[in-house]
Amino acid sequence: GRLQALHGTDGSRSWFERARNSLAGGISSSSRLTSTGPHPYPLYMSSGSGARIRDVDGNEYIDYLISYGSAVLGHAPPVLTDALTRVLSTGTMFGTCNVPEVELAETICRMVPCAELVRFANSGSEAVQGAVRAARGHTGRSRILKFEGHYHGWSDTLAISNRPTEYEAGPPGAPRSVPHSPGIPAGVVDDVVVCPWNDPAALRAVLDARAGELAAVICEPIVANNACTMPDAGYLETLREECTARGIVLIFDEVCTGFRTGPGGAQALFGVVPDLAVFSKALGGGLPIAAFAGRREIMDALASGRVKHGGTYNASPLCATAALVTLRELGDPAVVQRIDAIGRQVMEAARKAAHDQGIPCSVQGVGAMFQTVFTPDGRPTRHYRELLDVDQGRSHAFRHELLKRGVHANAFPMACWFVSAAVTDDELAATCEAVAEAFKAL
Ligand code: PMP
Repeated sequence: GRLQALHGTDGSRSWFERARNSLAGGISSSSRLTSTGPHPYPLYMSSGSGARIRDVDGNEYIDYLISYGSAVLGHAPPVLTDALTRVLSTGTMFGTCNVPEVELAETICRMVPCAELVRFANSGSEAVQGAVRAARGHTGRSRILKFEGHYHGWSDTLAISNRPTEYEAGPPGAPRSVPHSPGIPAGVVDDVVVCPWNDPAALRAVLDARAGELAAVICEPIVANNACTMPDAGYLETLREECTARGIVLIFDEVCTGFRTGPGGAQALFGVVPDLAVFSKALGGGLPIAAFAGRREIMDALASGRVKHGGTYNASPLCATAALVTLRELGDPAVVQRIDAIGRQVMEAARKAAHDQGIPCSVQGVGAMFQTVFTPDGRPTRHYRELLDVDQGRSHAFRHELLKRGVHANAFPMACWFVSAAVTDDELAATCEAVAEAFKAL
């Protein structure tokens, strides 16, 4: 049960120094640094097994980053490595049609309420692009409504108002569209209309003004990238009704929630069925694969060949097999119930520890994905702007205290914990103890 003491991270530091000479910024994704927090260098992980991950210095952690939720069965689970070993010896990619992609599409159509037809891609960003293309092709309109703070990948299409400051974005009730990065053309920014989350009146006001221009409304049904902000009761239903009434395609970005919050994702959990949905992360069980799926009427734009979508690597036998094996496991109610139960116990431990220490903290989300949010009054957040008021220093200190005790979670206060099915009872007990001690140390 008990974990090894932390023996320093000099190895990670020297790899980062070396990396910066050849790798821009020493990293392969901007989030490799935000997930590290104020720590001066990221940890270099070298191996993982089950719920545990090891860094180059030999420190071992129980992993709740779990590749941003992708390694949902844990690291290197035998069911997956056995299947992949077979594929490795028979060819990993042909760039042709293949059998596992068909079986996988059938599986997704069985599991996901909105899925009548599917297309595959390699990352969440790509699959979001596919869904947006389908919505635009279907409606003949070009604008997309997104919600402030929601994250839909790094591509130009929707990297708008991910993390704007109040100064950039203006009043919370009627925010401006703010590009997330230099290099995003003004025309793209102009095509993205931004709205505050959980605010039906603001939504109706925007829709009344822009409905005829909008191809789609896209959202994260549980906002993983806003510290697992939950939808208010009835809010997803409002989104559904407003989009139906105006002929706007409703897209759920289920890259984080898909197959993790239950076999049918957030749409099954909340009983609100979008027109299109996007999946990645848990879908591949740790291999790069993504999908967009939805109503036949919309996906027919692709089926007819009118709307184009491509990708050399789409649904390779390697990744499609990984996804098939993963979905077979996640289709078992016992597996998702186990994930949920583990998470709920950690959430409960955090709530109790926060209460015992008198520290305001909202423990929000669902078992499979949640966050400890140091809001000023300990109440749950309802939209992005409230996350600008969280105690970031405390959030980072908490993450550091957890790391010292062998628990690895994302340091970015707007991110969340992801639970894998591999956490054992001993590891769960060790996690709850580390959480209690970390709160004590704050
Ligand atoms: N949508 C959501 C909700 C995400 O969390 C992410 C990634 N964190 C993406 C899209 C983009 O996925 P990817 O990083 O695979 O491009």
